[in-house]
Amino acid sequence: MQALTNRVKEVSRKPMSLWERMYLPAVFKGMVITFSHIFKKTPTINYPEKKRPFSPVFRGLQILNRDEEGRENCTACGLCAVACPAEAITMEAAERQPGEEHLYREEKYAARYEINMLRCIFCGLCEDACPKDAIYLSETFTPADYQRKQFIYNKKDLLIPHPKEEPEAYKKALGNRAGNKTAN
Ligand code: SF4
Ligand code: SF4
Repeated sequence: MQALTNRVKEVSRKPMSLWERMYLPAVFKGMVITFSHIFKKTPTINYPEKKRPFSPVFRGLQILNRDEEGRENCTACGLCAVACPAEAITMEAAERQPGEEHLYREEKYAARYEINMLRCIFCGLCEDACPKDAIYLSETFTPADYQRKQFIYNKKDLLIPHPKEEPEAYKKALGNRAGNKTAN
């Protein structure tokens, strides 16, 4: 048959020698290579038991922030949605009602706030655009899931725990931002 290219290589069909037919030397050679790796430092990390330290600029799952009183910082201004290159953010604004001052820091708040994690590219532009320190990218991953709809994160998924009601969870979610957190 005519070859299409000149890259064809003829395979050597010469019969195996007695040494090769014994196989044991080849097995022994393989075992030596395997055992030589036992005492070497392993390059892999046994996740999730062990975790690799993140880079200081790692950008993970978004968190909607609260102030020290536990009030939501977001005023539903929409700047994060406008800045988002993936058009991953959707929100609906609402007016704060009398008696809700302990829930929302300003007169307007996001009644609905959603991020489509299948669109998000974790660029951090939403955090940069926010004038209220209301959103930041944390040091946690977006967990894997089987259904696309589970990747639409709503306020319940994104809001940071209440600093007074769940101080430990709040501190954990804040991560390395605890030292340099600023409220505008
Ligand atoms: S991290 Fe980037 S892509 Fe993701 S929601 Fe924020 S602005 Fe959009
Ligand atoms: S997260 Fe920030 S930028 Fe986005 S709507 Fe809320 S206050 Fe505005």
